Amino acid sequence: MLTLGCHLSASKGFLHMGKEAVSIGANTFQFFTRNPRGFKSKELDVGDCDAFVEYWKSVGGGKIVAHAPYTLNACSADEKTRELAFMIMSDDLARLEYVPGNYYNFHPGSHVKQGVEIGTDYIVDLLNRIMKPEQKTTVLLETMAGKGSEIGRTFEELKAIIDRVECKEKIGVCMDTCHIFDGGYDIVNDLDKVFEEFDNIIGLDRLCAVHLNDSKNPIGSHKDRHECIGKGNIGLDALARFINHSAVRGLPVVLETPNELEGYKQEIDLLKGLYEGE
Ligand code: FE
Ligand code: FE
Ligand code: ZN
Repeated sequence: MLTLGCHLSASKGFLHMGKEAVSIGANTFQFFTRNPRGFKSKELDVGDCDAFVEYWKSVGGGKIVAHAPYTLNACSADEKTRELAFMIMSDDLARLEYVPGNYYNFHPGSHVKQGVEIGTDYIVDLLNRIMKPEQKTTVLLETMAGKGSEIGRTFEELKAIIDRVECKEKIGVCMDTCHIFDGGYDIVNDLDKVFEEFDNIIGLDRLCAVHLNDSKNPIGSHKDRHECIGKGNIGLDALARFINHSAVRGLPVVLETPNELEGYKQEIDLLKGLYEGE
């Protein structure tokens, strides 16, 4: 079965998101853990978490994806900025224990002028401080487009981080189709080769989730501007091949396309129709 959903607003809580997802035919979803600008988060509502967990089980929902604020930078040159990332991400992980067994995705960060090596050191240091062997959430590094000095454009950069993370069984990768395409991976003409490369460098067992987006820009543009499914430079055929690829079978696939709920529902219907599995 295809595990497919979209990004939803978390403002009304978990149970609301779960019901909203079901109302548009989704069996997974993604949400921001807090406002990406102000970093404020609501007080944790344990009753809402419990009600969601029960509801989600009753509808057979798949793993969901919490997304850290994209404005955090775990590898900033500024210690205060790194400390903020540490505080927010530790708090997010503590809260996610109330909806156990899901994913926490984050952007590795931008090294600015320090270089990839120093940036990588900071990211590894942060992950080893926030991750605990007993945690029930798997942390995902998102593949990035390589805009500015973003770390995580290449599979090698992600591997360099994963190799040094101590809680090996709780670290994985979320592959964003717009990002890897903008990053230079040819998922339109050479999808098998891209997955082969991922497998050789990182290992497909680390691939845990997918962000399915079309791209407003051509391959290798390093831009990161998402487009609606089938309306961009990746195109519907390539995205259909992507969701049908054996490497993606069973993984939660989340749309982050420029849509409101109705648009997401249409894309979900469209993709379900193109899915060749059971
Ligand atoms: Fe993201
Ligand atoms: Fe993404
Ligand atoms: Zn993006």
